Amino acid sequence: TGILYIVPTPIGNLGDMSNRAIDILNEVDLIAAEDTRHSGHLLQHFLIKTRSISLHDHNEDQRTQLLVKKLQAGEKIALISDAGTPLISDPGYTLVSTCRSLDINVIALPGPCALITALSASGLPTDRFMYLGFLPVKQKAKAQSLKFASLAHMTCIFYEAPRRVKDTIEVCAQVLPDNHQIVLAKELSKRFERYISGNAKDVLAWLNQEDAHQKGEFVLMIYCKAIAQEELPVQAKDLMHQLIALLP
Ligand code: SAM
Repeated sequence: TGILYIVPTPIGNLGDMSNRAIDILNEVDLIAAEDTRHSGHLLQHFLIKTRSISLHDHNEDQRTQLLVKKLQAGEKIALISDAGTPLISDPGYTLVSTCRSLDINVIALPGPCALITALSASGLPTDRFMYLGFLPVKQKAKAQSLKFASLAHMTCIFYEAPRRVKDTIEVCAQVLPDNHQIVLAKELSKRFERYISGNAKDVLAWLNQEDAHQKGEFVLMIYCKAIAQEELPVQAKDLMHQLIALLP
């Protein structure tokens, strides 16, 4: 059978495209891209002429059937998303899990990923961490997710849309325990890259300083050290014990 390659692409700096990524994109029979127009610019920049078709959240099931047939016929296909590593808060899960279940070879190239980039430079603990994707939009669910993160006793990482970042930090100020630390990584690998750290109030003050501070792409990281058990309310203790039981 053929091979499905998972190919990460830059998250803001074209210099981060790897030689191997370029080679594979040139070599394959077809590129499945989240948005063919968006990726067209990248492919053009690197003079890659391989044909591409779309694979996004709304057509992934159909496309998977088509691509699997091609792979079973021996074709090589590369999967890319608009930025960073496919499947990490991006399309591709249905395709990859189907390929695995059918014993089709899947090879992932290492490469750009906003959460790993942000974590490695955050100064927060990296020995254990939890990635929780995008926060829910609704206030109650958002507050619950943040509380859950505060009980995990490890660095928790979220992606966040620029228009929601201020609101999210306000909710952090309301629901996180006093010992919380926040790091906001902004515009990674781009001209205005920046890390803002402190508690929710510090980060909020920075966001309010200038309109430009709220624009761009953000990774939100939260770390709350374990609180002495006697300071915790009963419900929190229960939840903490349940969570600890789930840890590997
Ligand atoms: N697949 C991508 C990856 O590997 O990181 C993530 C795709 S997800 C749809 C987009 C989110 O990733 C953005 O809303 C932002 O939270 C984060 N992100 C992507 N590029 C970023 C950058 N250059 N700086 C900061 N955050 C970024």
